[in-house]
Amino acid sequence: MSFNQSIRPITMEEKNNHLIIGGCDTVELAKKYGTPLYVIDEATIRGICKEYKQAFAGYKNIKMMYASKALCTSAITRILDDEGFGFDTVSAGEIYTVYKSGVDMSKVLFNGNNKSVSELELALNYKVGRISVDNFYEAELLNDLAEKRGITTDILLRITPGIECHTHNYIQTGQIDSKFGFDLSQVDSIITLILNKYKHLNLRGLHAHIGSQIFELQSYHDEVDILVKEISRINSKFNIKLNEMNIGGGLGVKYTQDDTPPSVIELAKAVTSAMTKYSTEIPTIYIEPGRSIISTSGITLYTIGSSKQIPNGRKYVAIDGGMADNPRPSMYQAKYTAQVANKVMNNDTEIFTIAGRYCESGDILIESIKLPKLEAGDILCVYNTGAYNYSMASNYNRVEKPAMVLVNNSQSDIIVYRETLDDLISHDNIPDRLSKND
Ligand SMILES: *Cc1c(COP(=O)(O)O)cnc(C)c1O
Repeated sequence: MSFNQSIRPITMEEKNNHLIIGGCDTVELAKKYGTPLYVIDEATIRGICKEYKQAFAGYKNIKMMYASKALCTSAITRILDDEGFGFDTVSAGEIYTVYKSGVDMSKVLFNGNNKSVSELELALNYKVGRISVDNFYEAELLNDLAEKRGITTDILLRITPGIECHTHNYIQTGQIDSKFGFDLSQVDSIITLILNKYKHLNLRGLHAHIGSQIFELQSYHDEVDILVKEISRINSKFNIKLNEMNIGGGLGVKYTQDDTPPSVIELAKAVTSAMTKYSTEIPTIYIEPGRSIISTSGITLYTIGSSKQIPNGRKYVAIDGGMADNPRPSMYQAKYTAQVANKVMNNDTEIFTIAGRYCESGDILIESIKLPKLEAGDILCVYNTGAYNYSMASNYNRVEKPAMVLVNNSQSDIIVYRETLDDLISHDNIPDRLSKND
């Protein structure tokens, strides 16, 4: 079984009625660091990285990139760098985090549908390895910026391969009507411009990303097929030699028992088998998973507080977090699995609705889940929160963002400090004319 096919982190154990992660008792972690608490299991991250490397080992021109937007902190970046991954970044903040973590910037790709002038300048200053050009406007802008510096910059073209994958609408990106990338019918015009006019752009290959939480291998097969055909068509039509193909990320993970993501090995087979159909010189394939690298490694610990029994209806129990630390249920109707960290063996169960603490009726973390009878003070452990939780977190209701702890070999270390009340007001300013004269 691949680690992305597990709901729980690989080190998860049950001992003395408690959940243990990375050799650390989750109840003790909650006590020591407070809740809500993001906990990341280092062994799970490194394990899945090794799976990716082994699965693609048979294909010699493969480059692994981590899609930082899934979870971007300095310590996480250090781990992925240590595992030999490059980084797919989408903002100045991500580029800066990666740079400050000591990453070789030639392994970094900058991607996005509306990169600002200052972000592009930062990318050029830090010499990121590739910029994925998304649209006509950006091609001209980037060429001007590179020309001003007297440099040429290596680019990929982000294209929309026209693949519909059956995932949530908001996380589909490769279909024809998408805000990302060039339509296939626009590829020849942009390449003509690059070859004849934008002399400061050095086109290396194509980039696509067909969506997220993908379970269908056929989508990858089709994507690779389209990219390879497109690259050979371009090469012969324009008499150039594109030899890079970035196929994006998107492999799904198992949030609940109903989720059946393919394994990393199956993904590798789908990708490489689509490649071997062609006898042309094999391009370098970049793959840039985010969710499947980091999701399973993460859990969130919450403390149970109030509860409410609707007469003849459901029973709500409220946690001390919710949509601000995990916006996915309210945004995408995402489903999660949970256990009670201090009652793993208790058999006296009930059906609960897990409500968040935020002032929004839609702030429900889990609609319906069978758990041991809950009381105030119990610790709820929600699985698969490594990806797109902290990275999408907000300060809604003026609540401090939780801390994040990395566990490994019975050791726990803070990798993101809990925000304080002073952090919350630290960017505020009161104009003089409003100040209180006392
Ligand atoms: C979001 C994104 C990824 C990562 O997607 P996951 O579903 O997290 O694997 C990779 N590449 C691009 C271009 C993206 O936008």
